[in-house]
Amino acid sequence: NESPSSKQQAKSDFKRKVAFLMSGGDSCGMNASIRAIVRVAIAKGCDAYAVYEGYQGLVTGNELIKKMEWNDVAGILSTGGTAIGTARCKEFRERSGRLKACYNLVSLGIDSLIVNGGDGSLTGADIFRSEWNGLLQELVDSGKITADLAKRHQHLSIVGMVGSIDNDMVGTEMTIGANTSLHRIVEAIDSISSTASSHQRAFIIEVMGRHCGWLALMASLATGADWLFIPEAPPAETWEEDMCDVLKKHRQLGKRKVIIVVSEGALDRNNQPIKCEKIKDVLSKKLNYDTRVTTLGHVQRGGFPTAFDRILATLQGSKAVEEVLSSSENKPSPLIAYNENKITCVPLMEAVQMTLAVAKAVEAKDFKRAFELRDPDFRAAYEISESLVLNKKVLEESKTSVKIAILNCGAPCAGMNAATRAAVRYGLHKGYIVYAVYNGFDGLINGDFKEMKWMDVDGWTMKAGSELGVNRTLPVKNLGMVAYQMQKFGIQGLIIVGGFEAYTSLAKLEENRPNYPAFCIPMVCIPATVSNNVPGTEYSIGSDTALNAIVEACDTIKCSASASRNRVFVVEVQGGRCGYLATLGGLASGAVRTYIHEEGITLNDISNDVDHLKKHFHEDKRIGRIVLRNESVSDTYTTEVLSNIFQEEGTPLFDSKTAVLGHLQQGRIPSPMDRIRGTRFAVLSMQFIENWLGKDITSDSAVVLGIQQGHVVYTPVQSLVKEADAKMRRPKDQWWLSIRPLLKLLAKYDQ
Ligand code: ATP
Repeated sequence: NESPSSKQQAKSDFKRKVAFLMSGGDSCGMNASIRAIVRVAIAKGCDAYAVYEGYQGLVTGNELIKKMEWNDVAGILSTGGTAIGTARCKEFRERSGRLKACYNLVSLGIDSLIVNGGDGSLTGADIFRSEWNGLLQELVDSGKITADLAKRHQHLSIVGMVGSIDNDMVGTEMTIGANTSLHRIVEAIDSISSTASSHQRAFIIEVMGRHCGWLALMASLATGADWLFIPEAPPAETWEEDMCDVLKKHRQLGKRKVIIVVSEGALDRNNQPIKCEKIKDVLSKKLNYDTRVTTLGHVQRGGFPTAFDRILATLQGSKAVEEVLSSSENKPSPLIAYNENKITCVPLMEAVQMTLAVAKAVEAKDFKRAFELRDPDFRAAYEISESLVLNKKVLEESKTSVKIAILNCGAPCAGMNAATRAAVRYGLHKGYIVYAVYNGFDGLINGDFKEMKWMDVDGWTMKAGSELGVNRTLPVKNLGMVAYQMQKFGIQGLIIVGGFEAYTSLAKLEENRPNYPAFCIPMVCIPATVSNNVPGTEYSIGSDTALNAIVEACDTIKCSASASRNRVFVVEVQGGRCGYLATLGGLASGAVRTYIHEEGITLNDISNDVDHLKKHFHEDKRIGRIVLRNESVSDTYTTEVLSNIFQEEGTPLFDSKTAVLGHLQQGRIPSPMDRIRGTRFAVLSMQFIENWLGKDITSDSAVVLGIQQGHVVYTPVQSLVKEADAKMRRPKDQWWLSIRPLLKLLAKYDQ
């Protein structure tokens, strides 16, 4: 008869054991992936093992391979770097090192390994897998392990993830850590911009990226830099003159500062490095500019992870566990990727080989090929950045008679100013007259139009809110006046930047085309709202900044809650009746519960949640807990009421306080993503209008510009009417609802 403890032992022996390690350079978000891997693995009935110090931990074994419990990963979601260390390990490059690694894994009964690293680490993992059977045989032959043990673990499952600040892996649109790094760069450039402007200085800023210009390109777009150097796009032979011409023109127009962003791997057409000192020489000698160089270095790696990186790493960590568990001998190892707004899998070695091919193409001066291998978003961003740089052709082009107006409406949000700036600059480069309409539809009705000059929008990428001013007035009752003013100013194209109001207004104008010829022009709505509730797009400008504001606030609140040892904070977030901010904010800040309007709240829910919180505090009192509540989820169970119930029912185990984030969520400084999306959407809107000029207007010429599954889409506004829940002011179909089960799992609800 088996004793209960030997039964337990046997059960544990056959439990699937999943190990994971971080390797190569660290990146922010790695900790979120560790947390997700451990919790999802445990939730799926596996044991999770952390391998400390990268492959060195595999080779050394012993205390460097440690079984993780649920609460071992508590509190790491918000921290940068990696809690289990990362390293480069020479020994693992040799078969003898990998033999030790095989022994250390198999003797613990582990045959599943998740590796988070760069192309080198993933290549190492693939070699390890291909040698696994041979390594096992060698261990059996030398008597180190039994044939039975080898038989039980004859297949090694490998799953790769990419933690890299460079965003240099082909096959995935984003790598873990790149977004945070971009935040650090943009913060630094913003800080440099003010001193550059005060002293009329030129600053040359070197950012990381040996073979990949993603960080430099995106930072340049987000900060409105004057010039950019990246490895994939070496400048023309005449770059020194070209750059000086543009900078001179900028000064003539009144710009006081010069910002030049240089990728550390930037090259000229002869494959010679373009270094900051060389650019400084050019500016000093040819333009006599007071020029400084700033190399950002390792600040780019550090700090707290952004909302995006936490979410990406969490979703990818969860997917990695699923993949490792469904792996089979004949299936190639997968790489967990992010494409078209989905967590996907691509064959690991194909992605590695394509990544190496980019470096080779650059080396071989095949820049066209290098560019083609990068993902379409990268190429699109480069084209947009080009279209906003004044070049000789643009400077000489004469004015046309095309008149385009842009207005902001609804509530303010981050990225609106970046959109206005890009629309104005792009329009001026094309010789158009661009009118800014102040104070939304009220301003339009009152004829509050201003013809914008190039310098009028200088520095607007980094400004939060709306410089044009917004309000919630819809054109509904004053359509006649709207038409009159548009006709008076001869508007041939209209861009409306805003949230649900902007979409509703556009639908109204389009619907009234038969009554008012002034509306028979191309019109575009750029979705911009913290709530992310506009139909026709998966993302609105402003929602990324809002998520980051929520995450920052929750991190701070959590510190206070943890210090008190026994506190639950009920944090109220915006969103109207759309639970996007609560859900994604909850995932990124590690909330134990999120309440959203789409699901509602019942008394039964609250009672379960009280029990759940008690369970949490019984297990660990050191950690404060966050509950996120969407502002409109219930008229009865308000933030205050929920907190009072938790306080009453939780005493003496825990108490409860509230925090209403309110307008703080609009953000003080727009996130890089919102600036880039604002800029990109505005240029695309201008091009959309351009394409319709002179053509017969149909309903396809009034669109909501959006991102759907990673692609930019232009959806005719009338076709969106059936996709929108007008009463609830949100799309009927919301992609992010599928994330909610994971949110519950990570908060231990399903256990
Ligand atoms: P990063 O992009 O941050 O540099 P990386 O994963 O490319 O990350 P590498 O230094 O190339 O960084 O590799 C990290 C570790 O992965 C190495 O120290 C080594 O232990 C292992 N590794 C890399 N290449 C191989 C290989 N060909 N065979 C076995 N192990 C390897």
